[in-house]
Amino acid sequence: GSVPLDDIPVWTPTAGASTPSRYLRNETLDQKISVYSGDITKLEIDAIVNAANKSLLGGGGVDGAIHRAAGPLLKNECASLHGCETGEAKITCGYGLPAKYVIHTVGPIAQGGVGERERRALRSCYWNSLQTATENAARSVAFPCISTGIYGYPPEQAVHEALAAVREFLDAHHDKLDRVIFCVFLPTDKELYLQNLPLYFPPA
Ligand code: ADP
Repeated sequence: GSVPLDDIPVWTPTAGASTPSRYLRNETLDQKISVYSGDITKLEIDAIVNAANKSLLGGGGVDGAIHRAAGPLLKNECASLHGCETGEAKITCGYGLPAKYVIHTVGPIAQGGVGERERRALRSCYWNSLQTATENAARSVAFPCISTGIYGYPPEQAVHEALAAVREFLDAHHDKLDRVIFCVFLPTDKELYLQNLPLYFPPA
């Protein structure tokens, strides 16, 4: 079955985390962040983000799972969008998914290594996905670990771009979003997010 947003616990920073934070505390962001382990296609939420490719016509990994669960109407709508550039985002309906919308974003391919260009593109994926969500009045958004599968971006570097982009977007637009869920699929990614979240969302 599907997973209601209310069943996903909110992440709260543990006071006394040893690493000094690079961001100031922002109490308006309390109760907005979660790390959820599992299948993003099951989430009953306003929007899920798809780690798509430039064609938007479907692929492997999370993209394949989203298209299978949504049904063929998703591909029809995607075909009308004429692709998507790296770092940008486009929105569709969710069709057979429990999510109302799918936000398709194209992560950088990092098989040639990670430089400033790849870092910037990955941050843009997170930022532009949230921008697209808020433009469509979506107040809850779940992200997969963009680019860290087939696209080869090292997960221990990607987590910093994900968390920095979400933190900075929420600083600017906290009134427009209730929840941001980091939907991790691998136990190692769950650890990376739990380790690094206090750097970006420090405790009181
Ligand atoms: P990319 O091409 O951007 O690297 P992938 O789909 O290959 O995208 O991988 C991105 C992340 O999505 C990986 O961490 C992978 O384990 C994860 N993933 C795969 N299937 C699902 C799913 N059903 N729900 C959530 N995450 C998933």
